[in-house]
Amino acid sequence: MIALVYCSFCGKEEADGDHAVCRQRLSVIDPPRYCPACARRMVVQVTPDGWTARCSRHGETASAR
Ligand SMILES: [Zn+2]
Ligand SMILES: [Zn+2]
Repeated sequence: MIALVYCSFCGKEEADGDHAVCRQRLSVIDPPRYCPACARRMVVQVTPDGWTARCSRHGETASAR
């Protein structure tokens, strides 16, 4: 399991500031843009089912269905 250190919406540290708005956005429609483990920008693909986001270090994440 990868530790979620960074906000996957804005790419800042989870401990730094308030990410309630970020989480709200992520839970509604937006795919994550940053890897939560290393804050690299992820390659995001929108699919008919939702989305997949890929970090070059940590691999692929898919939307929950
Ligand atoms: Zn955030
Ligand atoms: Zn990563």
